[in-house]
Amino acid sequence: MTDTSRAPEQGVVLHGTGGVWRVRTESGIEHDASLRGRLKQEGIVDPALKLAVGDRVTIEPADPGPAWAISEIHERSSSLSRRSPGTGRTERVVAANVDQVVVVFAMVKPEPHPRMLDRFLTIAEANDLTARIVINKVDLASEAEARQRFHAYATAGYALHYTSTKARHGLTQLRDALHDRVSVFSGPSGVGKSSLLNALFPGLSLRVGEISESVNKGRHTTVGAFMHPLPQGGYVVDTPGLREVGMWGIQASELDRCFPEIRALRDACRFTDCTHSSEPECAVRDAVRAGTLDRERYESYLKLREELE
Ligand code: GDP
Ligand code: ZN
Repeated sequence: MTDTSRAPEQGVVLHGTGGVWRVRTESGIEHDASLRGRLKQEGIVDPALKLAVGDRVTIEPADPGPAWAISEIHERSSSLSRRSPGTGRTERVVAANVDQVVVVFAMVKPEPHPRMLDRFLTIAEANDLTARIVINKVDLASEAEARQRFHAYATAGYALHYTSTKARHGLTQLRDALHDRVSVFSGPSGVGKSSLLNALFPGLSLRVGEISESVNKGRHTTVGAFMHPLPQGGYVVDTPGLREVGMWGIQASELDRCFPEIRALRDACRFTDCTHSSEPECAVRDAVRAGTLDRERYESYLKLREELE
């Protein structure tokens, strides 16, 4: 029998597998809940409506089966989605209601590849999400060196953090930046994502690297994201799916708006559909020549564009 003393509650989806979703209510209690048939059906018809980690939902007492059922999915304020190449339609929502994407790279070990960093940033930009860059392991070089190396990203307008879990450097500022926000953590493996999160929030024992690497190994399907509540408010989303499959169906023609410093220039080009590769009177190429637009970033743009075409 349904316990009628239990009223519907509002919650957030933390993770889910095999039709059972973990929902955290406003009071911080977690319940397993299944999706009402009608909502399940909607998700099959339109992938954009499929339930995702980060979704805000209403849950109701259910009987039989899992004790709770998700009866409503609330409108999303944002999402990190993969789109089908060509159509640009949403193929899969990786996480909903995301406030920012935190891209973690290491100063060394592994050596940072700017092009890979640009790829992560492009995915965030294509989803209209703020991106924040963390350069970890500055103890193996120096913050000054790191600042110089990633200078172009600061110029482009990105917030940068220089951290070391070993030297406990830059942790307070990063913790503040995560406070009360939903942050998707991403970056190559081995850069120190799990170490960082454990150093920032001891006791949470976030298994970022572990989950991303082991669960995904040898599988072609993507394992879903995990959302971890932070002790002082906010969430960190750990998603193994962020760096698989190239550029997520981004159109070549929209790539220039995924580079903030190119986006700021493109209206000054002579042609509105300028690809900034060979056209005359191109404000982007002029800026590269004048040294006001970073050449590496521009080359990244060209390479990624080539890939998308
Ligand atoms: P993840 O795959 O991104 O989650 O990376 P891990 O957190 O597993 O860290 C990978 C390796 O880098 C481990 O051996 C860590 O001890 C090391 N590591 C993490 N942070 C730092 C740091 O700030 N400085 C140094 N020198 N090593 C670090
Ligand atoms: Zn141009």
